[in-house]
Amino acid sequence: MAWTIRVRREFSAAHYITSYRGAPEPLHGHNWKVEVHLEVEELGEGGIGIDFLEVDAFLREILPDHTLLNEILPSPSAENLARWIFDRVKEKYGTVKKVVVWETDRYGAEFHA
Ligand SMILES: [Zn+2]
Repeated sequence: MAWTIRVRREFSAAHYITSYRGAPEPLHGHNWKVEVHLEVEELGEGGIGIDFLEVDAFLREILPDHTLLNEILPSPSAENLARWIFDRVKEKYGTVKKVVVWETDRYGAEFHA
C-alpha cells in the first residue's frame, strides 16, 4: 500500500539554453511550475503521510526564485532543472519519485527515480 504526496509551487527565473539549434538562445524568463511526488507507505497522525505545508516550505527554500538559472546549471533546460530539483528534494525526502517542471502551460519535463 502506498500513497503519493503531490505538492506544486511556482517560481520566476531567467535562463537561456547555451546551444539551441546551433546558437545560444536569447535570455528570457518563465514562471516555472514545479510538482514533486513523494511516496509514503504509512500514514501518521490524522491520516497524514507528509505534511503539505512542510513540503511547501522546503520547496520555497530550495527553488531558485528570481535568479539566473545559468548561474546554477551549465545548461538549464526544463529537463536539467527537473533533475537538479529532484536531487535537492532527495536530500530531505528520500522517497521522492518524480519532479515535474513546466516552463509554460504547454511545455514541461519530468525526472523520475
Ligand atoms: Zn525558456
